[in-house]
Amino acid sequence: MSHPATSPLPIVLTIAGFDPSCGAGIAADLKTFAAHNCYGIAAVTALTVQSTQGVRSTHLTPAATLRAQLDALAEDMTIVAVKIGMLGNKANAAAVAEFLDKAQIANVVLDPVARAQAGGAELMDASGLKYLREELMKHATVVTPNVPEAEALLGVEIKDLAAMEAAARKLVELGARAVVVKGGHMEKAIDVLFEGSEVLHFGGDKVKSPNTHGSGCTFASAITAQLATGRALRESVLLAKAYVTKAIERSYAVGKGPGPLNHFYRIQQEPQPRGTHELPTHGMHPAAEPGVRG
Ligand code: PLP
Repeated sequence: MSHPATSPLPIVLTIAGFDPSCGAGIAADLKTFAAHNCYGIAAVTALTVQSTQGVRSTHLTPAATLRAQLDALAEDMTIVAVKIGMLGNKANAAAVAEFLDKAQIANVVLDPVARAQAGGAELMDASGLKYLREELMKHATVVTPNVPEAEALLGVEIKDLAAMEAAARKLVELGARAVVVKGGHMEKAIDVLFEGSEVLHFGGDKVKSPNTHGSGCTFASAITAQLATGRALRESVLLAKAYVTKAIERSYAVGKGPGPLNHFYRIQQEPQPRGTHELPTHGMHPAAEPGVRG
């Protein structure tokens, strides 16, 4: 059997923090990329100590180490799209801006993560947020704040759809190429996309579920994967919203706090009793194919 010389799948990078409960951050991003048939790679900005019950502490990667991870990956692979999540501080944000300047990657999705939904430690400090607004945002194809993040970036209160639209316009005025203000925190989960001309609304039923840990990461990663496969931004946002909605609908708890999304709902199977899982026979090494064991 011949091997393809290079990855047949788009290579997509996440620059984000690690959540050991694997609901948010890098783990959510890589699951989302895999669910969209992309090959995911990751540069770690921080190790967080957290469970489904919240973030206990954060331990940032030194900026030079983050930069070294990014350089090593970019020297080795052709990266089609990047998703940026938790950065922690200004030094890490600046390392990412420098990298983006040099690497010139076509699709850059910036999720301006500030604080975990479940509360606890902050995921970005104040000078980092200022740098993100004044510098890093300009490097992004699209910025995806939720309402509290848009409020923190702009120092305004956002109470309704009109204020979400105004926030999206203001962020574009400040240098973002496009902005999606996510409505998940509002009564109706309408997302607002502004690319510089018209404002678009993306509606959808708000799913009542406690299992939304990592939904922001997942949404941004799904947009990134769609852009990586060549779709336009508005189509990518539409498909990402549909994916997140379904993944929340099909979610389940894994611990005592809010559970993760079900990133693999499309290939979900009924669990079987322990030890009776069917072996996947297709594509196995001949030694493990049924009937060839001695
Ligand atoms: N990134 C990391 C590493 C996190 O731990 C969290 C939340 O805990 C987030 C991002 C943001 O998560 P969400 O997608 O729920 O906003």
